Formats: sequence, structure tokens, C-alpha cells
Amino acid sequence: MSIQSTITSLHAQLPDNVELVAVSKFHSSESIRQAYSAGQRIFGESRVQELVAKQGELPNDIEWRMIGHLQCNKVKYIAPFISLIESVDSQRLIVEINRCALKVGRVIDILLEIHVAQEQSKDGWEWSELKEFIASDQIKEMKGIRLRGVMGMATYTDNQKRIRGDFNLLHEYFCELKPLFGESFDTLSMGMSDDYQAAIECGSTSVRIGSMIFGGRI
Ligand SMILES: *Cc1c(COP(=O)(O)O)cnc(C)c1O
Repeated sequence: MSIQSTITSLHAQLPDNVELVAVSKFHSSESIRQAYSAGQRIFGESRVQELVAKQGELPNDIEWRMIGHLQCNKVKYIAPFISLIESVDSQRLIVEINRCALKVGRVIDILLEIHVAQEQSKDGWEWSELKEFIASDQIKEMKGIRLRGVMGMATYTDNQKRIRGDFNLLHEYFCELKPLFGESFDTLSMGMSDDYQAAIECGSTSVRIGSMIFGGRI
């Protein structure tokens, strides 16, 4: 299927309360233009340099999201335009995003990436550390960020029970945090090309789909 027709079919298929993030990392601006021409406006990237380059040459009404591991010293490059940073996994990073946002006069939306997968290598907060940080109330004093929800990834496995277990856990964490942050805490980002349907059944409101739209990455 072409990029356009995959986008069209995903738009038709996803429930109204679930948004599509087209993950365009490693793919060309030309491929992004094709998705754009089918009506897609939200794109996810995982490397700062690539994100900044694409943002410079593509239409202004694209909503760019950072979904990959973000180093503190690179926040300043994306702070002027990024619409949501999904991969926020440390207190240091939150402090830096807040600082850069205030400097450019913006409020930057963020998600908290929580580690639930079996692999130790995956990024994200351990739940116990995150709860401690949130209990400290520091986040409420930071005027440059708005906490929009939770992001996570399931274990890399064929075991459907395990995958659903991970998604259910992320959903539980989301539900536990939501009352603390209110209405604007509305995003549970989980599900990729291979597991987005299960993620939606477990409560996802935002799926991040790459290879299914753009093909394999080198
Ligand atoms: C690459 C990536 C995706 C997309 O994965 P596909 O399997 O290509 O759909 C989603 N989320 C994150 C965090 C990624 O790095």
C-alpha cells in the first residue's frame, strides 16, 4: 500500500478518541509530504538533528513530537517549536525543558515515559521513582511545562499476554496519576505498528506508527 492509502485507512479505522502519530524517523521529507497530503499532521521523530532539519523544510502546521531518548543538552534546539515531548524520563530533563520553555516564552507539553517492559535496556521512569518525584510537587511549580499524560512501550515479544499485561499496567499508572493533574492530563501514548490494536483495547489515546506507514527503516 502507498503511504497515502495507509494513512487514509488508519484515519478511517482508528476510534475518534485515538490520535495517530506518524513515526517518520529515518524516512525522507518526501515521504512525510506524502503522508501530509493524505491529511496527516502529527509526526514523531527520535533524533534531534533530524527533527530540526525536517521541521525547517516542511509545512508549518505540522505538529512535531519528540519520541526518542532526549539528552538535556539538546532540549534548546527543539524548544522553540516542539509540540509534545513524549520521552521524558528524568527530573533533570524536566528541569531543563522548563528552563528552555521559559526562555523562549512557551509552555511545552510533556508526557512521562514509564518503564514497564521486561528489557532493562528500555528507557523510562521506574514507577516508584516517579511517584516520589510527583509527591515532591516540584512539577506544579514549573510554569514552562504542562504535563499531558503517560507514554510507554511493551516488551518486545510475540507473547500477546505479556504485551497486554504491559499496556494494562501503563493504563493503571495513567489512571492513578490523572486525578492529580486534572483535565489536561488526557494522553496515554502506547502502541506501535505491531501492537497498536491491543494498545487501543487497553486504553491508548495515541498510537505511534512508523513502519506500517513508511516501510522498514535501515
Ligand atoms: C520507532 C518508534 C515507534 C514506531 O515503531 P514501528 O514499529 O515502526 O511502528 C514508536 N514509538 C517509539 C518510541 C519509537 O522509537
